[in-house]
Amino acid sequence: MRVLVVEDDHLLSDVVVSGLRSAGFAVDRVESAELGDTALRNEHFDLIVLDIGLPGMTGLEWLRRLRLRPGDESRVPVLMLTARDGLEDRIDGLNLGADDYMVKPFELRELIARSRALIRRTGTITSEVGRFGSLVIDSARRELKFNDHPIELTPREWSILEYLILHANSVVSKDKLLQAISGWDDNLAPNAIEVYVSRLRGKLDHTDVRIRTVRGVGYRIEEPAA
Ligand code: CA
Repeated sequence: MRVLVVEDDHLLSDVVVSGLRSAGFAVDRVESAELGDTALRNEHFDLIVLDIGLPGMTGLEWLRRLRLRPGDESRVPVLMLTARDGLEDRIDGLNLGADDYMVKPFELRELIARSRALIRRTGTITSEVGRFGSLVIDSARRELKFNDHPIELTPREWSILEYLILHANSVVSKDKLLQAISGWDDNLAPNAIEVYVSRLRGKLDHTDVRIRTVRGVGYRIEEPAA
């Protein structure tokens, strides 16, 4: 899952970015709303962590504009970061379409849990531990089991599986997958996705879950019909 952190305080964004990365998110950061705009023009994000007090355009103004855009981009979940005395900001932010907020200083574990919860809302698995086919997926622990037997995945394989399951109702393009699992610093080649998907298929081979290739479009993950 890809997260954009918009925060001008470097100390804070260092902590947030490394925390989210260690939890398995692909994370990019910018220091202003203007740079956030550029990021959104070029890439797809699954969540935006947005500081309200930014130099230049405030986080609130940016959020207002974001929600007015046409298309999918306008619906990306937003978790705002506000000051302890920022009650008005929180109310304004929620009214403008923020999905959740954290008051500084906050516990990193809580930010991670809330980030996961917000992304889940957009997808098919709605709790921390979910089921797809006979697979049991624990997103917080990053544990995958089939018939009580663990399946070991690398972080990349895990990210791909999680993304495909979250979007199980649609065909996910290679480009979307690439964007979902890698940040700007990762430099993954487009054919890397094929390699990861192929390894993932190998590891799911003995289960009832299949990753189908939809020719010319992308991938769709499937569980047996109920
Ligand atoms: Ca700030």
